[in-house]
Amino acid sequence: MKKLRDIPIQFIKGVGPSRKKLFNNLGIENVEDLMYFFPRRYEDRRRISPISMVQTGEYQTVTGKVLAKRSRRSWYTKKHLSEIMVDDGSGRLHCVWFNQPYLEKYFRAGKQIVLYGKADIYKERLQMVSPEWELIDSDTDDQKYSIGCIVPIYPLTRGMTQRYLRKAVRASLDKYLNDLTDALPVWLRNKHHLVNIKRSIASIHMPEDFDIQQKAMSRISFEEFFIFQISVLKRRLSIVMKEGVAHNVNLNLVNAYKNLFPFPLTQAQKKVINEIAGDMQQTVPMLRLLQGDVGCGKTIVALFGCVAAFHNGLQSAIMAPTEILVRQHYDNVTKILQEFKGPEGNSPRVALLISGLPKKERDAVKRKIANKEVDIVIGTHALISEEVNFKNLSFVVIDEQHKFGVKQRALLSRKGLNPDILVMTATPIPRTLSLTLFGDLDVSVINEMPPGRGKVETTLYPQKEAPYVYKQVRNQVRAGKQAFIIYPLVEESDKLDLKAAEGMFKEFQQKIFKDFKIGLVHGQMPRSQVDVVMEQFKGNEIHILVSTTVVEVGVDIPNASVMVIEHAERFGLAQLHQLRGRIGRGKQNGECLLLAEATTEEGQQRLQVILSTSDGFKIAEQDLLIRGPGHYFGRHQHGLNELRFAKPLTQIDILELARQEACDLIHKDPELKEMKHKHFQAIIKERFPSYLESARSG
Ligand code: ADP
Ligand code: MG
Repeated sequence: MKKLRDIPIQFIKGVGPSRKKLFNNLGIENVEDLMYFFPRRYEDRRRISPISMVQTGEYQTVTGKVLAKRSRRSWYTKKHLSEIMVDDGSGRLHCVWFNQPYLEKYFRAGKQIVLYGKADIYKERLQMVSPEWELIDSDTDDQKYSIGCIVPIYPLTRGMTQRYLRKAVRASLDKYLNDLTDALPVWLRNKHHLVNIKRSIASIHMPEDFDIQQKAMSRISFEEFFIFQISVLKRRLSIVMKEGVAHNVNLNLVNAYKNLFPFPLTQAQKKVINEIAGDMQQTVPMLRLLQGDVGCGKTIVALFGCVAAFHNGLQSAIMAPTEILVRQHYDNVTKILQEFKGPEGNSPRVALLISGLPKKERDAVKRKIANKEVDIVIGTHALISEEVNFKNLSFVVIDEQHKFGVKQRALLSRKGLNPDILVMTATPIPRTLSLTLFGDLDVSVINEMPPGRGKVETTLYPQKEAPYVYKQVRNQVRAGKQAFIIYPLVEESDKLDLKAAEGMFKEFQQKIFKDFKIGLVHGQMPRSQVDVVMEQFKGNEIHILVSTTVVEVGVDIPNASVMVIEHAERFGLAQLHQLRGRIGRGKQNGECLLLAEATTEEGQQRLQVILSTSDGFKIAEQDLLIRGPGHYFGRHQHGLNELRFAKPLTQIDILELARQEACDLIHKDPELKEMKHKHFQAIIKERFPSYLESARSG
């Protein structure tokens, strides 16, 4: 049997070298890619209305010949107009497009055209404004596939037409459809009434009706979920089948730990500490996800695991995504553990490992880690990217899980005695999603804030109200508070935004806030300089901190209770929520002032959500609905980005079926060794390689 992914796209009839480039632009390299290149929508052209029967106010399809065309600028609106008159024998239709002067060269009198749009009557003429259009060749079988059927509309690239792409897809189906192999075995398809792969692919490109097209898509999603779940479960198995450390964790230790704090732990914190304590006593390595909103007190809970490891004479590590966060964890942890004594009367030795340290110092820390002169290591990804060898690592915390990938998790855990792993996230994830993504993790949730937290009030102002907003900031700072002013900076290379932040910083310094101390931090500053400024801000030597999103996660400055977010429409919801979390930390109430000019509907929706709730889970759900998971989690989130067709948010039923089947399968044949399951190994390797890799190394 031919492997369709090994057949280059040029093998399709009519695809030469220049066309090949266009396909490549669309991410299509081979025949399999082409077959799995799905339409973004369909046009129902089964019913063509004669022009004489066209209803105004309704969407419909007509076809006819271009009778005449005209291209001009309206002296009245100053817009460019491209117009054509179409005749189908029953009547005439006038069509107009605005400001697309290039259209003119496509429309030629005598050509057959298909139009889809809403008709109205204008100046006593039947017309369509900006209808979808397509020219049809009369001398090919184009007619047959463009009129009288459901027509697929594909995503295009410059220089590629629907017509051409459709033809190529048809050619690939004609020649190679029979070479498609079905990843799902017959019994499984029969059990869940799933359409076979050949019929599915054919029906997605050329559906007879919408029912079969939907069934085909469901089947594709089922298959994808199923394979993905097998890889997730297999990975879990490969970890839990290993022998880890059974820590000795007793009630005395738990109580001694709780007494380290000047405040009582919340119920939720106690519950999760118990869950961790329970897991750590088992030989099976722990794999646990801790979810909790910004500021709910995850650090204390995670640190308990480190203390338990120390109590057993073993090492632990905490990994966080940024140096600011790592330093903050380090400060907190050393403070908390000052009073803590282990079984031999000694306190845990805590070390910091970041690439910002001088090499000599770094090497010294690594030596100490290797000789076990250090018990708890707190670091950035330097922990995994550099040569760090632990003597006896038995517990690992990964903070802000969504900033790290699955692979990095595996790399860190490989450094130890199959350590217990706790991953933490302040990005709340609805349950269905966490099942999909983290099906290999047990989940703990902290759903409660420590008492006595101030409230954050959020208000939205249009950009032109900025002077008023700055005046409010001035009043607050006069009253002794500190303020953040945040600018968007999506990528570090985003020079333009940086200029905005730097420019405004000068303006603030020289004019608007010239009677206050102002600081600036951004991602392109040297680390050391950022730290100096942050320290000054913490020490209240700086009143107003102008910043790009480097302050996003975790930073703790209790006296800062005012935040202005400029261009708030350009931030994602998760980001806005995290940013706002910075000022909800102390006892005093916070004030968050959004300056925004939401030009898109999506931007508006996002702002409405952030104004209406401060519940991280609700915000996450809304964001996932508005933008889909890829945006919400960013590109590091494995799994979500690897799912090409399946939609975990809206296809929950299919997801659950597939998950159940995957569980059964892995239960019966964990290694996928049986003849009839062997091919799954190859499929996993093809589709979710990072999972397999981590399974091997984890
Ligand atoms: P996050 O969950 O965002 O990581 P942290 O662990 O950084 O939150 O905690 C935020 C702040 O709340 C810290 O200053 C911490 O000392 C404090 N805190 C944590 N738990 C409690 C509690 N039970 N009562 C009062 N304050 C707490
Ligand atoms: Mg934290």
